[in-house]
Amino acid sequence: MKKRAIILGSTGSVGRRTLEVLADLSEEWEIAGLTAGSRYQQLADQANRFRPEAVAIARADGGADLDAALAYSPTIHSGDRALLDLVDSVPCDCVISAVVGAGGLAATLRAVELGRRIALANKEALVIAGSLVMRLAEQNGAEIIPVDSEHSAIFQAMHAGRAGDVHKVYLTASGGPFRTWSREAMDAITVEDALRHPTWEMGPKITIDSATMMNKALEIVEARWLFDLKPDQIGVVIHPESIIHSLVEYCDGSLIAQLGRPDMRTPIQYALTYPKRHPCPTRRLDLAAVCQLNLHPPDTQAFPALRLGHEVARRGGTAGAVLNAANEAAVDLFREGVIPFCDIARQTEQALTEHEFIASPTLEDLLDADRWARQKVARCITC
Ligand code: MG
Repeated sequence: MKKRAIILGSTGSVGRRTLEVLADLSEEWEIAGLTAGSRYQQLADQANRFRPEAVAIARADGGADLDAALAYSPTIHSGDRALLDLVDSVPCDCVISAVVGAGGLAATLRAVELGRRIALANKEALVIAGSLVMRLAEQNGAEIIPVDSEHSAIFQAMHAGRAGDVHKVYLTASGGPFRTWSREAMDAITVEDALRHPTWEMGPKITIDSATMMNKALEIVEARWLFDLKPDQIGVVIHPESIIHSLVEYCDGSLIAQLGRPDMRTPIQYALTYPKRHPCPTRRLDLAAVCQLNLHPPDTQAFPALRLGHEVARRGGTAGAVLNAANEAAVDLFREGVIPFCDIARQTEQALTEHEFIASPTLEDLLDADRWARQKVARCITC
């Protein structure tokens, strides 16, 4: 019998790549459910090709449009609870959580409660609710396999030793397009500048997060929860070629790294087939042709977001929800041309400083903190 997959966020960048991977693995896998936020036509096109038994669209009035665009009759869920209801009602072996941002949290949590394997690309679920997600995963026997390329690399390198023997992990970062820019030049960065990533081809939100290095801040928090690390065990190293995807340093001084071409299909496929490996259609890395791999320390003055990542990893509680929500709101304002590039980190830091911290939050507390941070960033603009 074939294994069954649900993709949360199938019309996004990781979602589309996941469909390519699953098409390639179609002798072993079938697609049981697909979901999108609002792009009903693209979702319908995907569904008409892969024929999942259920589809879901988060837009409240998206059900009728989706129904009209479908060439067969799957179960259709729409509205706020659509993703959650699909996860609840469709049995599967793996949920690929590829929604961008906080919108993926509730459905991902439900999949964890159901004890599914989660191929986790939605890093925000761990940034917002890391302690909750990891506790539920342990209670329900849900395996969380990271899809984020750095965390997939660390997950793979962790197999070289025991967790207790890990001294430190190093997340590599391309440094984004502004790695060598002066602080003054960074004040004039346009949306077009920020959407140009030198090595990875990704969705717009994560591309801007890479440019501010907020993506690395979120990844520090993600690593803290995924691998149960202390904040000072998580280092960041700039590596412009994006060939070394991350490293684990063991207590004996050995560093174990995972290398490959920057292509999301590799970590996506690994999360699906783990612990097995399967040939992948990605181009192979010609190591001799690479010639040179550069590594150097990050500039925390030019990229204050990195400091925020460590701060949030240290504080835990509601800090992750505030970091994520304030950043999402600030990125939206930057994309709309309302605030300058450097204000993204500035606004996020201000929200972190001013929020009423709760050390052991419930899910409600986390969602409240999320809402508060978004409003706080919006208010800063009008005052
Ligand atoms: Mg990453």
